[in-house]
Amino acid sequence: MTQPAQSFHDGLVTEHYDVIIVGSGAGGGTLAHTLAPSGKRILLLERGDFLPRETDNWDPKPVFVEGKYISKDTWFDSDGKPFQPQVHYFVGGATKLYGAALYRLRPRDFTELKHVDGISPAWPLSYDDFEPWYTKAEQLYQVHGNAGEDPTEGPRSAPYPWPAVSHEPRIQHIYEDLAKGGYHPFHAPCGILLDEAQRSRSTCIRCTWCDGYPCLVHAKSDAEVIAVRPLLDRENLTLLTGAEVTKLETDDSGRTVTGVVVSRDGNQEVYQADIVAVSAGAANSAKLLLNSATDTHPHGLANGSDQVGRNYMFHNCKAVVALSKEKNDTVFQKTLGINDFYFGAKDYEWPVGNIQMIGKSNAEAMRGEKPQATMLAPEWSLSDVAKHAVDFWLTTEDVPTPENRVTTDGNGDIHLAYQMTNNAEADRLYAELKKILNHTGMAEHHVLRKNFYMDMSIPVAGCAHQAGTCRFGPDPATSVLDVNCKAHELDNLYVVDTSFFPSIGAVNPALTAMANAIRVGEHLLGRMS
Ligand SMILES: Cc1cc2nc3c(=O)[nH]c(=O)nc-3n(C[C@H](O)[C@H](O)[C@H](O)COP(=O)(O)OP(=O)(O)OC[C@H]3O[C@@H](n4cnc5c(N)ncnc54)[C@H](O)[C@@H]3O)c2cc1C
Ligand code: SF4
Repeated sequence: MTQPAQSFHDGLVTEHYDVIIVGSGAGGGTLAHTLAPSGKRILLLERGDFLPRETDNWDPKPVFVEGKYISKDTWFDSDGKPFQPQVHYFVGGATKLYGAALYRLRPRDFTELKHVDGISPAWPLSYDDFEPWYTKAEQLYQVHGNAGEDPTEGPRSAPYPWPAVSHEPRIQHIYEDLAKGGYHPFHAPCGILLDEAQRSRSTCIRCTWCDGYPCLVHAKSDAEVIAVRPLLDRENLTLLTGAEVTKLETDDSGRTVTGVVVSRDGNQEVYQADIVAVSAGAANSAKLLLNSATDTHPHGLANGSDQVGRNYMFHNCKAVVALSKEKNDTVFQKTLGINDFYFGAKDYEWPVGNIQMIGKSNAEAMRGEKPQATMLAPEWSLSDVAKHAVDFWLTTEDVPTPENRVTTDGNGDIHLAYQMTNNAEADRLYAELKKILNHTGMAEHHVLRKNFYMDMSIPVAGCAHQAGTCRFGPDPATSVLDVNCKAHELDNLYVVDTSFFPSIGAVNPALTAMANAIRVGEHLLGRMS
């Protein structure tokens, strides 16, 4: 890591960079990685620090029960009630804790889709437009997968760079039962540095502490390990940690960002660059623009359309635990996905969503997430429940609405107003999962001789999949960013995190953010050449 040649404090302007990137997660980290080989002088500003490598990384108590790696931020809901958002401020951003399920959106996700509660709008680019960058992102993040199993997937110009992660016996059994039943289970795309052919050389040890945990051995394809760490010795890249960007300043015309105001070590610093790319995560990027209002941008920077902060999405999700009499000894469970209901179900016209596996339950984590779980299984201890649990993650698309939005108050703090959409579709997905479980024979083995499920719906604080607050589009009246993710109203301001999503689909968002960051990075290289 190189330090800035000079560091001036107390509001003085420091040196000038070609590009300043705010935030080092899926968007910002990947953008830095794309730009760095050009030799352009890049300043990467990250409010967090490196996530410490410590045994707590793989301990459910500190991770899930005590929330050790969740930021201490306070946000406020629409009633002004404070809550602690599940956001993660580290080099690598939310990807340090993510499950590394690296899905492409489906081709139809890029088109307008009608949902029970509204419209999922078309993107200004098609799947085919995006495809080359998905391929590059999969290669960079070393995604494992097996093309051709999932009938909803789009065409690809290259195979997955790594073979699919194998199913362990219990999951293989479910896979075969589903296939026999006429479903199309597939090997879930996954970004872990696992070499199953040469386990002795594999960085990933295939453990159970993956989904929602940081990886102690740096074997997860997160934005720190893959994108940022390899840049740290470069002369042209400066990473400043503990550097929270609080405001963007503009020239009198309002067309150019002239100063990036940073709070670091209790001091205020101001940095300058030809190009500024904000990638602080959907809520924080909106916060930064809203808190940067000026006379020329009275409602917030780039917010003449009044769209900054609006259309916040984060998926309508459920974590579901199915119990069976048979023990589930799976260690790494996230290997299977089902998209048979993605765009509808039998006699149901609305899109329903994606089913995938999540990290294996353990008693400590369940205690942290849902204390009342034991009430549903009075004869079982939480350890028994965890040993017999098969864990699913259900994702239904939520539609963007202008009322679901981030605003800031007089202190500059985030207020998040959010009403869930598409609950009927999410309920249908849950019903389809139950049918599937019956089909695989799991229900027969339920200890209570009936279907026995516990679900944990995700409250507003669970903003892991946040997106949409600065959507891109051709029309400055209805979007914040143009097709290159440049703010319509400014000449040198870009937003390169999940904020740009006009809709979120029903698969995990990170690969799309990474692919888009490569796309925008290549655009910037062209612009700067
Ligand atoms: C527990 C968990 C599991 C997940 N699992 C998956 C999964 O399996 N698959 C998937 O696709 N997605 C998953 N996600 C979501 C995925 O991690 C995010 O979609 C992705 O990281 C978003 O990228 P981003 O660049 O928008 O934001 P982030 O990756 O969060 O990066 C934003 C960065 O900006 C920094 N920052 C914020 N404000 C400022 C500021 N003012 N100044 C400077 N820096 C700032 C933050 O510290 C952070 O480093 C998961 C998320 C979580 C939390
Ligand atoms: S499964 Fe692999 S990538 Fe995931 S936490 Fe374990 S070692 Fe790390």
